[in-house]
Amino acid sequence: MNFDKVIFLDIDGVLNTDDFLESKVVITGWGGRIIPKPIEMIDPKKVTILNRIVAETGAVIILSSSWRINPGAAETVDCLLANGLEARVVGVTPDRVQVTGRFSGYCERWEEIAKWIDVNKFKGNFVIFDDHEDASCPDFESNFFLTDGQVGLSNEIADAAIKVLLAE
Ligand SMILES: [Mg+2]
Repeated sequence: MNFDKVIFLDIDGVLNTDDFLESKVVITGWGGRIIPKPIEMIDPKKVTILNRIVAETGAVIILSSSWRINPGAAETVDCLLANGLEARVVGVTPDRVQVTGRFSGYCERWEEIAKWIDVNKFKGNFVIFDDHEDASCPDFESNFFLTDGQVGLSNEIADAAIKVLLAE
């Protein structure tokens, strides 16, 4: 590994908001709803905030979002780049099957993150962006930034995350 600063990135509720997603839904004449394509579900304004963190810290991105499984890592990276991402996405966290060793296994998102840190023997600085508490645990308290699904990634969170990533 040639990086020492990592952002564990959730997407829904971080790079989009409920209102943003709702604005992309098309109501059809038959009472149906056409849900947006993944590429339409990322708010470029939120990507701009993420870009600032990366520009100021040199951090790379590990996808912890369920997007890494569906639509999949490659398509997720394409969607991020198409919406202006200027950062390297260098990996994904293991999924629950890899963490638990069981197809029917369940684990919380922080366990997937902890597994990635363990497997990669990562000793650098990291932050976790997620709109759900299950991405955090007591060990990660100072690394974890809970976003509000109505707001997504904010400049205030970005400022605080930059401090964590740049800490000596
Ligand atoms: Mg989320």
